[in-house]
Amino acid sequence: MPKKDEIAGIAQAREILARAGLRTTAARTAVIRWLQSAKSPATHADIAVDLIPMGFDKATIFRNLSDLAEAGLVTRTELGDHVWRFELRDEAHAGRAQHPHFVCIDCGTVTCLHEIDMPAASQKSISKVGKVTEVLMRGHCVACG
Ligand SMILES: [Zn+2]
Ligand SMILES: [Zn+2]
Repeated sequence: MPKKDEIAGIAQAREILARAGLRTTAARTAVIRWLQSAKSPATHADIAVDLIPMGFDKATIFRNLSDLAEAGLVTRTELGDHVWRFELRDEAHAGRAQHPHFVCIDCGTVTCLHEIDMPAASQKSISKVGKVTEVLMRGHCVACG
């Protein structure tokens, strides 16, 4: 990664933390930077694999993920396999359900569907039932189908 991008990435991570009123720590910055580069929700184990060699232990990474989730910076998603997956919250979706996810029932690949939004009419009828926190679609991905 070019040095300039790395510095910009760290500055951005610090800004995200400052806006949420969280103290900047090396572990928090590392977790946010990791999530910024992720293309789909990741498990604690996925993140730990990369951050442990940087000197952070599993418990620290987990605690920081929980702190970030509590502060609303990170969403925790459970896609039916009883594993929590974490991703940065879309700023454009503040106060609404996050983007839907597509899960391949063959290979387990999770894809973010950023461009799919819940139509306003559906949101209204769903609100009678409850508050949607997760929209999940299942099927066969292009590679498996
Ligand atoms: Zn698949
Ligand atoms: Zn996603």
